Amino acid sequence: MADLTLENLDKNYGSFHAVKGIDLHVKDGEFVALVGPSGCGKSTTLRMIAGLEEITSGDIVIGDRVVNDLPPRSRNISMVFQSYALYPHMTVRENMGFTLKIAGRPEKEIAAAVAEAARALDLESLLDRRPSQLSGGQRQRVAMGRAIVRDPDVFLFDEPLSNLDAKLRTQMRTEIKRLHARLQATVVYVTHDQVEAMTLADRIVIMRDGDIEQIGTPEEVFKRPASRFVAGFIGSPPMNMAEATIQDETLKFAEGAILPIPTAFRGRVTEGQRVTFGLRPDDLYPVGHGLHTGTATEVETVALPVALTEPLGNETLLFVAFAGEEWTGRMLNPRNIGRGEQVEFALDLSQAHLFDAETGATLR
Ligand code: ATP
Repeated sequence: MADLTLENLDKNYGSFHAVKGIDLHVKDGEFVALVGPSGCGKSTTLRMIAGLEEITSGDIVIGDRVVNDLPPRSRNISMVFQSYALYPHMTVRENMGFTLKIAGRPEKEIAAAVAEAARALDLESLLDRRPSQLSGGQRQRVAMGRAIVRDPDVFLFDEPLSNLDAKLRTQMRTEIKRLHARLQATVVYVTHDQVEAMTLADRIVIMRDGDIEQIGTPEEVFKRPASRFVAGFIGSPPMNMAEATIQDETLKFAEGAILPIPTAFRGRVTEGQRVTFGLRPDDLYPVGHGLHTGTATEVETVALPVALTEPLGNETLLFVAFAGEEWTGRMLNPRNIGRGEQVEFALDLSQAHLFDAETGATLR
């Protein structure tokens, strides 16, 4: 395995600037996920690393080699695609061994590598089948098996689970995690699914319009989002937000709602400033029924009418109106709440976020 460095990596498609001089260092054995909305440049970045897309400028370094001008096969990377890209006329065994065969490796070595990958991915009973005789999840495992047998320096995954149904996606996610723990491989994993990124990655890179908005561990990007964009992208259900003005040392919202300025932000905002206030659903709950009931340190209570409830078994999501926005709260130990019922909510302001309304940057 090896580390991977992107230095000032840039991509233009004609006059369109798809990737804007990004810098990223992926450590040896690290699992990094690239996330962001459609069109933000994740796949282009991955394809440049793979050598499937020419770079406009900058450097790609794998280990101690600058690979900018090397063809894909000489970069010692393996890529797993959303479409699996298996050869339909070959068996699972042949698919998995194909690249080694092309590389002219001895039969015995190929057989051993395939056997080991098949064991790791529980594919041993399927080795003589063709792709058409496999389920979607099994095909995806074969695609991963084929990537493993090559023992590459870096694994690249391009939305590998997006063709699978929800249940299988969760299962395969666990499998990829287990595989990474076992192989300690250097991985760059592209997904638009932030939950996938959060559960799999050591670090997450959030991209926006061809640029990197934030790089951090799942906990960092969740707890300390650098911008309103990251805050809105990471977390499910998404962070509740509302615009406010700093007035008389309080937050003044639309429709006359007022909250105190969270302690962490006092002295960081100025009178008259426009801000975006953010609060995660975890930190908005009926008094006594929250995840952080009892440990919350800066609770403000507000009576809000509940427009809708969504019971999920162990918890219930509550939809409420605050300052003209629809917000989501999370209730543990559910109790019955009627539609339209006025409920006393706790807002844990110690967990609140403030962003500059103009730039979207965090004010922390
Ligand atoms: P998605 O999640 O939809 O796959 P992405 O973040 O992977 O999105 P990219 O595929 O990297 O996005 O594309 C980044 C931008 O570059 C998009 O606006 C896309 O339209 C543009 N783009 C990609 N390939 C080309 C091309 N060959 N020619 C021109 N523009 C392109």
